[in-house]
Amino acid sequence: NELKKLDMAHHLPAQSDYKLQHELGGSRIITRADGVFITDAEGKSLLDGMAGLWCVNVGYGREELARVAYEQMLELPYYNTFFKTATPPPVKLAAKIAEKMALSNPDLTHVFFNSSGSEANDTIFRLVRYYWELKGEPERTVFISRKNAYHGSTVAGASLGGMTFMHAQGGLPIPGIEHVEQPYHFGEGFGEDEEAFATRVANSIEERILAVGPEKVAAFIGEPVQGAGGVIIPPASYWPKVEAICRKYGILLICDEVICGFGRLGHWFGHQHYGIKPDLIAMAKGMSSGYLPISAVGVSKKIVDVLLEKGGDFVHGYTYSGHPTCAAVSLANIGIMENEGLIERTRDVTGPYLAKALKRLDSHPLVGEARSLGLIGAVEIVSEKGTNKRFKGAEGTAGPIVRDLCIKNGLMVRGIRDSIVMCPPLIITEAEIDQIVDTIEKSLNEAEPVLRA
Ligand code: PLP
Repeated sequence: NELKKLDMAHHLPAQSDYKLQHELGGSRIITRADGVFITDAEGKSLLDGMAGLWCVNVGYGREELARVAYEQMLELPYYNTFFKTATPPPVKLAAKIAEKMALSNPDLTHVFFNSSGSEANDTIFRLVRYYWELKGEPERTVFISRKNAYHGSTVAGASLGGMTFMHAQGGLPIPGIEHVEQPYHFGEGFGEDEEAFATRVANSIEERILAVGPEKVAAFIGEPVQGAGGVIIPPASYWPKVEAICRKYGILLICDEVICGFGRLGHWFGHQHYGIKPDLIAMAKGMSSGYLPISAVGVSKKIVDVLLEKGGDFVHGYTYSGHPTCAAVSLANIGIMENEGLIERTRDVTGPYLAKALKRLDSHPLVGEARSLGLIGAVEIVSEKGTNKRFKGAEGTAGPIVRDLCIKNGLMVRGIRDSIVMCPPLIITEAEIDQIVDTIEKSLNEAEPVLRA
């Protein structure tokens, strides 16, 4: 209670409704975690179906990561990369990440470090424009993104994102960003043939390129699977179509892998599931499993070559770019994923198991669709079975209502508009996946009379 009082008196939590924080008497204080479970100050244990905030891929309580941080801090806690200097951990980490990127695109050879996903996207924003300036095409400044996308909270990140409620605060987006259709079949293509839908949505990119003028378009950015937008899994042919459009007009293809990277879709990077070759990728979260803040931008050789040939200083970077302690923990985290085969396990065992388990919800009267890929999934809540209709007058509230019941029932999930989304640690067992699905089912049963009242 003392902590809750201090929370209200002094703490402004991220992405929060401060009035609600006070109405609830302060934030829920999480004090401990182990494996896939978190515990709050009142001793309530919750299965963490969100891996923190889509990030604790190797699960909680990894002593090895704590030891690596401790040892690195004793040896060299910090040094910068501004003075033509570097430290061993980020150099080794860059090579390790290049190895994983090369699995799909050997042209992705270099890495630029930052501390957060938002910063990674800010770096991309400036690097892409700088690249086109160096190439002698400075008029190529426009970024094409998608409605309802999330690319971070900084000015460039929130502008690249397509969330109108974020744009409404602070006069965003900044100029030069265009938002096109998202590949949300259940919500925006219901009843439409999936292939026709994929073509229509991908074509909205080409139409916008032509409307803006192809010579002005710098890049297209998208998450392989949109996470915060509501776990929007595109039809299989969507990404190859997008890639072909980018190539046709010579514009850069950027994948925001902040959630999808490091095993979430059963590959080191999410785009590898779709067989495409981005020119740039943003990564964060699972890169250190959230143990320390670190992010990166994967950069392809064709961009690096231009920087080498024509560039002067790229006057961009952060105090914590290439932070040795964060990089050492990230390397150890990747080592855990390799040693425990977490990527393959997600692809071959637990991902398919989650998909099968979610099928059980298909017959629930409130469920419009239950979908997943790898270990990320969503359950769409509808008012009328067999349709995508939402509860009248309460659109957008079903997710939070069911989420609150899930939390009461011992499961941390997120409610996004009228869906429940999940993204558990990659170490989750089949029995724990059953626990997630059973708890969602129980919570849907409890929510039904409330929603139909
Ligand atoms: N990009 C995507 C796809 C994300 O999901 C997020 C965060 O959720 C970000 C960027 C921003 O990352 P950060 O919160 O580390 O700034």
